[in-house]
Order: sequence, then structure tokens, then C-alpha cells
Amino acid sequence: MQYHFNTKCLYGNNEKVIEESTGAISFPIYQTATFAHPGVGQSTGYDYSRLQNPTREQLEKVIASLEFGYDAIAFSSGMAAASALMELFEPGSHLVVSEDLYGGTIRIFNHINKKNGIEISYVDTSDSSKIKAAIQQNTKAIFIETPTNPMMHVTDLRAVSEITKEFGLLFIVDNTFLSPYFQNPINLGADIVLHSGTKFLGGHNDTIAGFLVVSNQELSDKIRFILKTTGAGLSPFDSWLILRGVKTLSIRMERQQENAMGIAQWLKSHSKVASVYYVGLPTHPGYELNKKQSSGYGSMISFHVDSKETAILLLEKVQLIQYAESLGGVESLITYPMLQTHADVPVEEREAKGINDCFLRLSVGIEYIDDLLMDLEQAFE
Ligand SMILES: *Cc1c(COP(=O)(O)O)cnc(C)c1O
Repeated sequence: MQYHFNTKCLYGNNEKVIEESTGAISFPIYQTATFAHPGVGQSTGYDYSRLQNPTREQLEKVIASLEFGYDAIAFSSGMAAASALMELFEPGSHLVVSEDLYGGTIRIFNHINKKNGIEISYVDTSDSSKIKAAIQQNTKAIFIETPTNPMMHVTDLRAVSEITKEFGLLFIVDNTFLSPYFQNPINLGADIVLHSGTKFLGGHNDTIAGFLVVSNQELSDKIRFILKTTGAGLSPFDSWLILRGVKTLSIRMERQQENAMGIAQWLKSHSKVASVYYVGLPTHPGYELNKKQSSGYGSMISFHVDSKETAILLLEKVQLIQYAESLGGVESLITYPMLQTHADVPVEEREAKGINDCFLRLSVGIEYIDDLLMDLEQAFE
């Protein structure tokens, strides 16, 4: 029997969470580097916290259950998870990836993985024929985001899954933007799901974390070996913070989405807003496809305003909404992708994608909707 998603946020799937000797409801923080062995050749199941720690393990069970994975491995950041992921590939391997991606992922591909002999082809993964055309003899995996950061392009998860099965490739999805509450790529054929746990999973803008969720034991063994060897596992305290954050994932996602819908509609009718990119708007080109493969739209909105002056004024005048990087938390944040998340993307590439000086990205939190709208209204004046 599987619990409903909302229950799994608290307890994972039937995992024992009450600590037996004390009855503590909150899972304990096992702040220890190492574990004593009861005898020679014996182990409690824990040896050294780089390899495994009970608090991290409890979090991993919860996240694996939320993503319908075989296993989840918790890392010290989303990028630590991405670095571990890329250790799966030998020099000479080739990956086909979405052309619109989180800036840090582009940076790791271009500046770390390429130097280590990994070839990357950036394609518009919302077009399956372009994916197929980019596959080479040495292609090992397809890596996508859907919706993408920050342009909100939607890729057909089922279609990519068919291609990866046909060509024997790994199918990897960065599912940070919709979170497991709205989208479960493993159920649609993905092999590995990456998360920045910093965002919706943690949800409180207070902890950096990352996850790789895998669909089978072979991948779990490989990634656990990489974790043990390279050592970027999530600390016990940060594991506890994400465990606590994730308990409210379902109610946060609902409120954040409701607020985002209200703001997206308000922005759409504003005279100084040129275009709004939110997958929850029926006018969004990916609206129908996103509806077929997820149960919601999330709370990320990008938009173009009429001028650079309006963009800068907005960033400087918002009071309730904070001008800060990151997303997914209970506090609403606005970013200027050109100067922040995508600053390292070459100018021509950035401009071609529409990430220019009129482009802003909003992560909508749980504040009262009218307070958010009032803040935007005064900032646009
Ligand atoms: C933030 C983010 C990452 C990186 O995660 P960190 O926790 O910041 O290292 C990766 N992918 C997406 C989509 C993100 O938003």
C-alpha cells in the first residue's frame, strides 16, 4: 500500500519515523561523523557519515517516495548532485540537453564537463525531431528541464522517454521547477530526476540541498559509489531542515500556484508588461502539453517589460517581494536573469533566448495575494 502524496510528505511511504526509545515525533539529527561497531566484522548499518547517516537516510526515503523512485541520494547542493551525476559518464561521451537550462547547469557542462572530455549538444528539446537529429554514435543521455528556466519551454516527457528507450540512452530530468508535487518524470519513463532541494522541497529559502532520484538499483549503486568517493553528501542538520520543509510541500505548492495564477493574469493585463511566460496560462504554447504530463503549473513566472528602465525601477521599488536569486520558497523573490542566474551565458546566446535587459523572473510565495499585487502595482508606477 502506498500513502497519498500529501501523507508521504510527512512520513515517506510507510517508513517508521517515530524514534523508538524516546517517541520523538521529529526525526532526530544524528550529528555524528562516525559510528561504533558492536564487534569485529559487525556493523549497525552505519559506518561513517560520508557514506550514510540516519537523518540523511530518512530524508532520502521521503524524497524517493515522493518521486516514485527506487532510491534518492541527498547532496550538499543541486550543483553537487549535478557534478555527481556527470561522473557517470566517461570522457568521449556525448549528451543531448535542453538549450534553455538553469545557468549553473550550463556552467558545469561548458566549464567543467567539456574540459573532462564530455561533449554537449544544446537543442530545442520541445521538438523531438531535433533531439533525434542530434543523437550521435557516442550519445549516452538526454538531459532536460520542463518547464525550462527561465523561458518556460515545455518538453514532452513521454516522447523523450520513447527516444531514449529506442537508442538505449539515459533519460535525465531536472524536475526542480514543478517539484514532485506536480510532476513525476520517473512515472513517465525518466531514469534519473535531479532536484535543487534548495527550492520547493526545502521551501523556506534557508537551506542549500540537492537530490538525484533514480529508477533502479544499478543507478543507485553507481551514484552511491560516486557519493562515497567524492563526498558531497548533505549534512545531518541540513537533511533535517529539508525533512521539516518537505512536510508542508503539498500545501505550499497549492498556495504558491494559486498566487502565481493571480499574478500572471494581473501581469498579462498590465500596460508596461510586453509578454508573460507562465505554463498555467492557456495562451502559453506549452499549456496543453504541460497539462498532459503534470498536475499543475507551479509558481514560476517570467515576463518581459516594455523597457530596461521599467525593469530596473521594478527591481528597486518592490518592497514585499525581495530582489534576490533563488526560487520556490515561501517568500516571493524577483530576479534579473541577465545579471544573476544567466550572467555566465554568452551575450549572443542569452539575447537569442530572450534573456535581455527587459526580462524578469518571479518566484511567487505564500503571501496574501492582494499584498503581492499592491506591491507590484506601486513598483510599476
Ligand atoms: C537552483 C537550481 C539548480 C541548482 O541547485 P543549487 O541547490 O542552487 O545548487 C539546478 N537546477 C535548477 C532548475 C535550479 O533552479
